Amino acid sequence: MDAINQDAPSSADLWDEFPVIANADDYIDSLKGRPMTIYCMGEKVEDVVGHPLIWPSINAMAETYRVASENPALATAQSSIAGKPINRFLHIAEGPQDLVGKQEMQRELGRRTGTCFQRCVGLDAINSLHSVTYDMDQKHKTDYHARFTAFLKQAQEHNVILGGAMTDPKGDRSKAPHEQKDADVFLHVTKRDDKGIYVSGAKMHQTGCINSHWIIFMPTMRMGEKDKDFSVVGAVPAHAEGMTYIYGRQSCDTRALDGGKIDAGNAEFSGQEATIIFDNVFVPYEHIFMDGEVEFAADLVERFTAYHRASYVCKTGLGDVLTGAAAAAADYNGVAKVSHIKDKLVEMTHLNETIYASSMASAHQATQLPSGVWQNDVMLANICKHNVTRFPYEIARLAQDIAGGLMVTMPSEKDLENEETGDLVRKFIQGREGVDPVDRMRILRLIENMTLGRNAVGYLTESMHGAGSPQAQRILIARLAEMEEKKARAKKLAGVEE
Ligand SMILES: Cc1cc2nc3c(=O)[nH]c(=O)nc-3n(C[C@H](O)[C@H](O)[C@H](O)COP(=O)(O)OP(=O)(O)OC[C@H]3O[C@@H](n4cnc5c(N)ncnc54)[C@H](O)[C@@H]3O)c2cc1C
Repeated sequence: MDAINQDAPSSADLWDEFPVIANADDYIDSLKGRPMTIYCMGEKVEDVVGHPLIWPSINAMAETYRVASENPALATAQSSIAGKPINRFLHIAEGPQDLVGKQEMQRELGRRTGTCFQRCVGLDAINSLHSVTYDMDQKHKTDYHARFTAFLKQAQEHNVILGGAMTDPKGDRSKAPHEQKDADVFLHVTKRDDKGIYVSGAKMHQTGCINSHWIIFMPTMRMGEKDKDFSVVGAVPAHAEGMTYIYGRQSCDTRALDGGKIDAGNAEFSGQEATIIFDNVFVPYEHIFMDGEVEFAADLVERFTAYHRASYVCKTGLGDVLTGAAAAAADYNGVAKVSHIKDKLVEMTHLNETIYASSMASAHQATQLPSGVWQNDVMLANICKHNVTRFPYEIARLAQDIAGGLMVTMPSEKDLENEETGDLVRKFIQGREGVDPVDRMRILRLIENMTLGRNAVGYLTESMHGAGSPQAQRILIARLAEMEEKKARAKKLAGVEE
């Protein structure tokens, strides 16, 4: 045990720093002036809200508050913990209807933003921690569940954003955490005192972390007996001392710096990923929800992914936008009534609704765990995410087919504004009569944005890797496939006697 740091803040000290957030404007204000170390494109960021490259991601996160104000039936829920309606992104599922409601909200937010609105990792983290902390207490006589629910109650009262940080850098993927040459490639405990623990390492690809108020860090995979220091879960303020953020580049992100509204494709909204580096970050005991219980790391990852893989229903909202954009592009081109175009739009819809069906089925088939929380059906959630690793790519391919090559060869917005070239651009970008050529440009840029540009990060690569690469789902699907039972059924009907 190390010497006690008398200045180490308690849970109450930390919560005192947070306002109670009523709406999107409060949320945006809450991000101003925080003492955070953030780098973006090699420069230190002093004002995140005013940063043109970062702002669209904040605006997307703010939409989670706007939808709660505008449509409380969709985006709020009655919480037994807070004893009042709260933002659905902070709610523990009290029945299958809560998971259904959550997923309807996620699709709607995908439709409203056309990008990753960044808030579901935290939601899925708290739901999985509800049961895992309970189960750890049953086995080890710890008090994690009470600590966790006390923390969550404060989060619900303050209506804050909880970011969920699971993915470690992982170094050599063939080695366990304790076998890595550099221990920092997995987040781990570096020292302890009477007030709490200190953690070092990093979490990568962290969606919306800079736009969050708290970061809940969790182990990223199954842990062994020698990985005790790496089997740690805790919550720290996003502005805690010792944390550094390095903003992730996104394809075509600097179009946000060009000015104008057309070339960005979706000038209002974007996702956000960053690397978080932890350098001896303090976590008070009240905010530690696992500390060395190695056998529960795999349970946590599996339960988290049961929620999170169904959360990828959000991509159906983006699919709605992209299908609509393709239909508009066809209309502007004068080919809306052509049979193969109509058929391609049907195919896009079929693929999109197949994702939706698997996600919603996993919510309706939810089961209750001993802590009381309800969890999505694991097989169907994995089927949903596996569909998501494929179908958006096919939907994107069909959208590009319908859009035509102009989507990637079109002159810029500045050429449109230029006295010499503006009329020429308008003249040759015209489609069918009655359509403003600039509207055609806008729709094509949106398709570019979602399939090649900034929001392709959220629509395509996040669909591939977020919540685990395709193989991670195939492992679960293989485990749950009950192949022996299926073989027995086939043999029985075929009259095979063994
Ligand atoms: C846009 C985006 C947003 C994300 N947001 C978050 C977030 O908010 N929070 C969070 O915690 N994480 C987030 N992630 C991380 C995501 O969960 C990981 O990308 C995913 O788990 C894959 O890990 P990786 O990227 O390190 O790939 P790798 O682990 O390097 O995988 C690459 C390939 O190698 C294979 N592979 C890796 N290890 C092994 C092995 N031991 N044996 C066999 N095959 C192996 C994989 O199956 C895959 O095919 C995000 C990712 C993206 C792309």
